[in-house]
Amino acid sequence: MTLFTDFGLAQPILKALAAEGYEKPTPIQAQTIPYAMEGRDVCGIAQTGTGKTAAFALPILHRLSQSPKPRQRKSARVLVLSPTRELSGQIADSFRAYGRNLRLTTTVVFGGVTISRHEKELANGVDVLVATPGRLLDLIDRRSLSLRDIEILVLDEADQMLDLGFIHALKRIVTLLPKDRQSLFFSATMPKTISTLAESFLRNPAHVAVTPVATTAERVEQSVMFVSTGRKQALLEVVLRDQSIDRVLVFTRTKHGADKVVRSLDKAGIVSAAIHGNKSQPQREKALAAFRAGTCRVLVATDIAARGIDVEGVSHVVNYDLPNVPESYVHRIGRTARAGATGLAISFCNDEERAYLRDIEKLTRLQVPVMPLPEGFSAGPMGGEAAEPRREQQRGRPAGHSRGHQGHGQPRNTDPNAERGPKRRRHRGPKPANAGQPNGGQRPAQAQPAQGQRKPQGQPAQKRSEHRGDGAQVAWLDKGPRRR
Ligand code: AMP
Repeated sequence: MTLFTDFGLAQPILKALAAEGYEKPTPIQAQTIPYAMEGRDVCGIAQTGTGKTAAFALPILHRLSQSPKPRQRKSARVLVLSPTRELSGQIADSFRAYGRNLRLTTTVVFGGVTISRHEKELANGVDVLVATPGRLLDLIDRRSLSLRDIEILVLDEADQMLDLGFIHALKRIVTLLPKDRQSLFFSATMPKTISTLAESFLRNPAHVAVTPVATTAERVEQSVMFVSTGRKQALLEVVLRDQSIDRVLVFTRTKHGADKVVRSLDKAGIVSAAIHGNKSQPQREKALAAFRAGTCRVLVATDIAARGIDVEGVSHVVNYDLPNVPESYVHRIGRTARAGATGLAISFCNDEERAYLRDIEKLTRLQVPVMPLPEGFSAGPMGGEAAEPRREQQRGRPAGHSRGHQGHGQPRNTDPNAERGPKRRRHRGPKPANAGQPNGGQRPAQAQPAQGQRKPQGQPAQKRSEHRGDGAQVAWLDKGPRRR
């Protein structure tokens, strides 16, 4: 177990942590602090609430305490960029709390208050400056601040920055920073746009990640195809003919099902291997080695067997069967989003699995877009439900699957071949926003929310705006204070 004393942090900082009541580092702190203490750049995937503020603040305070320097006028040694005034204020509070036993100054600047107040605070220079990008550029343009002395840069909640339209401000700020600096970059999600932004800020970064289960889902581009059980194999073969799929994991619910898929693919001339609980260790290793080497681009797996699979570069996940445990879905698709990568997940859904799909959407709070079947491809007999709206699905259950079975309206898993996984649990999350979609779920793609779009919840955010350095007005959503 890692302790705060293992990091080599200065005594006054350890004393402050004890006063805060922190007993041991959180996972993001345990991962980030050693790299940051070495002076390395860090690219972290972490959400608010994981303790990421301390993950960057503690090593920064340590470094400042070990190399005291006189403050320079209109200047700072550390710059923390954050998207909102609330977050900026909280970050500044954290620096002050963890640095309470050090003689360091922390100032926070954001739009919406008179700029002369910030100009006064910066006149004699500060150690740590926490800023929203717009106000920072305003101060620079008024020659009230220079970034020439910045030794450490933190970019926090990068994905929110982009959502709020700060991309141009960030691109400009990066040109004003000294090249010789340490940079720490954090985002809750890491789609391509964010990783490209990260590259412009970072030099040979260490990658760290703590991803709550539901967040993984946001990094993966997902789709669902409605198809009957009898047509799934044919559909898989059509999907796999796409040569842009270079490494694909196909999930089946049962061991028997996995073997059957492999046999059928073999007949179709597609090389694949199965990995599941009935395979011996040497057989598994052989299959994995071929998959890693790229000699076998299709690996068919059950959920349990897949847990041990840690293969980089899985471009696609195909859910041949949807899992009856929604968490398994997130773990499955997460195989294609390792180390911040993004990937594609395609799910085949028959009538009976629609209930599973709804539970998945409840858990992830995302609506899985429907992908039309390839042109001319028949879905096969889908029962009466195929042509009915999803709302009907929520009222009625698939024939033969009454609520009595598992208390959640799920088909009971009576297949003796099914590998045992975690027990289902009840989710009491909000109903998916797609309830009542017309067209039997075969909705046109443009009717779907963008990939990764969260369903609205809680208090409505308030619109705010700030004057940007280039004369434009920047608007953002004030989501209110974070929960502590
Ligand atoms: P953050 O994700 O940085 O907003 O932190 C979330 C909350 O966790 C804040 O209230 C912190 O004060 C608290 N916190 C951060 N690190 C620790 C720790 N190691 N032990 C206990 N609480 C912590």
